Amino acid sequence: MSKYFYTQILSLLSCNTSIKYGFIPYICNTLCKYDLYSVINNVLVDPTTLPSKYVWKRTVKQLVYETEMWRYRMMTDSDFVRFRILQPTISPSIVYMTCCRAAHRNFMHEVAKLWCRSCRLDSLTLCQNCNVQTTDKIVHLVCECAATTELRTKYVCAIACFGIEFISEILQLDESMFTMKLMDAPLAPLLNNNENKDFLLISFQFIGDCLLCV
Ligand SMILES: [Zn+2]
Repeated sequence: MSKYFYTQILSLLSCNTSIKYGFIPYICNTLCKYDLYSVINNVLVDPTTLPSKYVWKRTVKQLVYETEMWRYRMMTDSDFVRFRILQPTISPSIVYMTCCRAAHRNFMHEVAKLWCRSCRLDSLTLCQNCNVQTTDKIVHLVCECAATTELRTKYVCAIACFGIEFISEILQLDESMFTMKLMDAPLAPLLNNNENKDFLLISFQFIGDCLLCV
């Protein structure tokens, strides 16, 4: 990395420059856009981490292609209406991270499918379990179906470990938001990372059990 580039980028990072346009800011913005900024940070800390030309070209090609494809599909595919809220960036899925044990794989598959299920709320369907008409089968099963009442009671008991305040807040969400929260939508109340993983594991299991009632 040239001394000029090094000096300029340090000035930019420390906000010690009035230059907002030009080669260096452009490079920084592009790296940010494709989640590559950590490479610059690493090199500033340890210059030996500078990737070879071959590695860098391959990384950029892959990431730029993946990011553009990701954005295009998120914007155009109606199946990703839920998914783009639940998974806003290219990163390992929380469903996979939460259900990493083999014993959890059965409901991991079911929950992952729900994330990519299109939301067609314009048509009513009849629940075969309780004969109630619903616009969203999953929300109905999770929140109101008579066939899942016992599962709901068990679920509320299972999440009691997260505190009465958490439970009362989560139960105040409307049905659609409540269902999204159980699938890890970034809605308050929030838990810390470890607690959230435990909460999601219980929630995914509950959703999986509800789906078995169909
Ligand atoms: Zn029902």
